[in-house]
Amino acid sequence: MTDRKAQHIQAQPWVPYPRIIPRAQHSLSRKEVWPEALKVIRRLAKFGYTAYLVGGGVRDLLLGRRPKDFDVATDASPEEVRKLFNNSRIIGKRFRLVHVYFKGGRIVEVSTFRRAPEPHELEEMEDPRTVNNLYGSPHQDVMRRDFTINALFYNPQDFTVIDYVGGWEDLQSRVIRSIGDPRVRFAEDPVRMTRAVEFASRLGFSLHPEVEEAIREEGWRISQASQDRLREEVLGILLSGASGRAVRLMADLGMLGHLFPRASEVILPHLQDVVTLLVRADGALNREGLYAPAQFFSLLFLPRVKAAFPFGAKFTLGEVMEEIFLVTNTLREDLPTPAHLIHSIREILLGLWRVARGPGSRGARRFMERDYFKAVLEVFRVDTLAFREDRSFLEPWHRQVARGRKPPYKNRPRRR
Ligand code: ATP
Ligand code: MG
Repeated sequence: MTDRKAQHIQAQPWVPYPRIIPRAQHSLSRKEVWPEALKVIRRLAKFGYTAYLVGGGVRDLLLGRRPKDFDVATDASPEEVRKLFNNSRIIGKRFRLVHVYFKGGRIVEVSTFRRAPEPHELEEMEDPRTVNNLYGSPHQDVMRRDFTINALFYNPQDFTVIDYVGGWEDLQSRVIRSIGDPRVRFAEDPVRMTRAVEFASRLGFSLHPEVEEAIREEGWRISQASQDRLREEVLGILLSGASGRAVRLMADLGMLGHLFPRASEVILPHLQDVVTLLVRADGALNREGLYAPAQFFSLLFLPRVKAAFPFGAKFTLGEVMEEIFLVTNTLREDLPTPAHLIHSIREILLGLWRVARGPGSRGARRFMERDYFKAVLEVFRVDTLAFREDRSFLEPWHRQVARGRKPPYKNRPRRR
């Protein structure tokens, strides 16, 4: 173990840090940063504090992608930040940080540079939450972040990118690398493993071999993570626009089984079909942004239910429903899934068999008036196109929809 660690340190090329990447050498344009985030940084600087842009915003802009939001890191304490902005609030249990609210709804998250605790401090701590709220220097702050590509600072005052951990090179070579020993970092916080998979899939990056190995070894720890955070992660992955890639990667790394001990038993035997469906749905999501979580969840189970009850074969909806209950119950056992979500997943799945019966079947008109009807039809379309199936199930419905009124579509997706 120690030997391996020593090799790992030697294998890293020695670079004097921090490395400052001047404006001429990177593609990050200040014009693409939210003016609200720049305003926050300018005000902090005016009062003598250091403040940088950090995290996903810097990473995405350097990759030419549009960031979801912008985070600011500073040496001002949450209370000091709070005092500088009227429209702000201190939030967070795990991490105390400040949200600065702007007209139009934008929120800029400001966190204070933090550091990891020393071992003796860990022993002396009474409240374990203090672990996450020890303040430190910019260098210490990046060292406790998860991956090198997430640890770049951008200083809008002089347009430089500041890199303490080799994130700049890793962005160029498109690799997800942990800061420090990935086994240690994943043991500290197992959710970092699902984050690694999500970033790799979403950005089309590869996992550094050590990250991959560490996930294989430490993946079992996923079950120790907070269920609420895991549920958020799962939703994030399904709605990331790269869910097919992510599920395939998680299956390859043995993580799917740790994340979904029961549901993976019904997903893995049909993995190839599940991935094919998710990839299709990702395409539709990226083009139209029209996907609800329940639709993605339903795709995880569809191949299994269809294998037992092919569309067009003879059986009652009651029989199909029984199977749907059985497979969706596995999800409920694995993660605390809200009842309304399970309910929607079931409605979508059962709806597919109603669609397969055609618009002339009993109850079809009422079905068409349900608010989830369009969501069902879209999943059916994805399935039909993915496997080049008989379109004769689908076309009569589309004619019917074109003729009739359009039912409203609820349950809009949370992100992107
Ligand atoms: P996204 O585009 O999904 O928002 P992000 O990198 O901004 O990606 P966030 O969850 O918004 O991700 O977190 C912001 C930053 O906080 C990350 O870039 C990373 O530096 C740090 N971070 C987030 N979660 C962790 C974690 N579990 N462990 C260590 N650092 C983390
Ligand atoms: Mg972010």
